[in-house]
Amino acid sequence: MLVLISLSCPGIVWADWRPAWFEGRRYVPMEDVANFYDLRLKLSPNGREFSLTSPRWNLLGRRDSKELMINGVKIILCFPVHFQNGNFFLSSMDLVKIVEPILRPQRIKNPGPVNTVVLDAGHGGYDTGAVCLYGPEKNFTLDIVRRAAQLLEQQGYQVRLTRTTDKFVPLGQRAAIANQIPNSIFVSVHFNQSRSTMARGVETYCLAPLGVPSMDEALATHRDFKPCLGQEQDPQNTALATAIHASVVRTLGLPDRGIKRARYAVIRELRVPGVLVEGGFLSDAADLQKLASSYYREQLAKGIVQGIDNYRRALDTKRQPSLSTKTLLTTSGPPPSLQNERSLMKIMAPHLSSDLIGLIFPSSLPAL
Ligand SMILES: [Zn+2]
Repeated sequence: MLVLISLSCPGIVWADWRPAWFEGRRYVPMEDVANFYDLRLKLSPNGREFSLTSPRWNLLGRRDSKELMINGVKIILCFPVHFQNGNFFLSSMDLVKIVEPILRPQRIKNPGPVNTVVLDAGHGGYDTGAVCLYGPEKNFTLDIVRRAAQLLEQQGYQVRLTRTTDKFVPLGQRAAIANQIPNSIFVSVHFNQSRSTMARGVETYCLAPLGVPSMDEALATHRDFKPCLGQEQDPQNTALATAIHASVVRTLGLPDRGIKRARYAVIRELRVPGVLVEGGFLSDAADLQKLASSYYREQLAKGIVQGIDNYRRALDTKRQPSLSTKTLLTTSGPPPSLQNERSLMKIMAPHLSSDLIGLIFPSSLPAL
């Protein structure tokens, strides 16, 4: 039976989906995801894992897990993959807010050009952030954004720093700086610390969409249902986080802790796309050894800059054909059939060179 549903988001078209409800939220069968994106669904012999593959894509996931590897980059889903009667299901929230902007960034509506990058060095002044053998986090973050600023300017970007010296800037004021600059994006740089000796590597945060639990919470709480301005850029936030995270992880070779979501004050009230990068653990000896070297910090800055540039190119709709996203993303009027959608994808295929995939992801992938 085919049921026509709207995925209640302007970011994805109407289509033939067979929704199911588990634990009070809507899911779609992985088979439908495979059909929609023209991917091949395969289950592992023990039935615990699945893969969705095509010549360009390799998605690997597990039942009851929020971890989804997309072409070797770790994405932490909003909700665990559901498994029932031999079938895998993806939450519609993850389909719309995570998978769609990553697989088809060129479909993001009105992404706008990226002229200015607002770089935010975390902490400052009396707010030192984490402290390690080589000094406070606030010094590391300022060093990275200075390096990134120079690289971006060399590439023709306008750059604005939320602080250029060791001073305290309130979190709301940092977002306000970006909000005043049209066609800007916001990148906040931080470093992690943990008491756990196991914690190391890079993680990148974007704002949690409405109703999605923040951080590692299992369930959404009351405050997760309070809308905030930054959620108007949910698809851009996911795409920007993916581009930067993939680039940084690949550049640095640090453990990949994944793309996550939070409601950090500095990204909550942004009117422009924004992310927060945690570039390693100052509490971990191996991470710290790398971060102590200026060569390595330059590499980290380069990774961030490359990610920003990948994002800009992936969303460059001017390079897309006249079959604009408007036609496909409209939610009024008769919904296009899946077949139409597929044929349009084929027409557009030669123009997908600006897709994130070609720019940020490695092409050799592990098989399931
Ligand atoms: Zn910090």
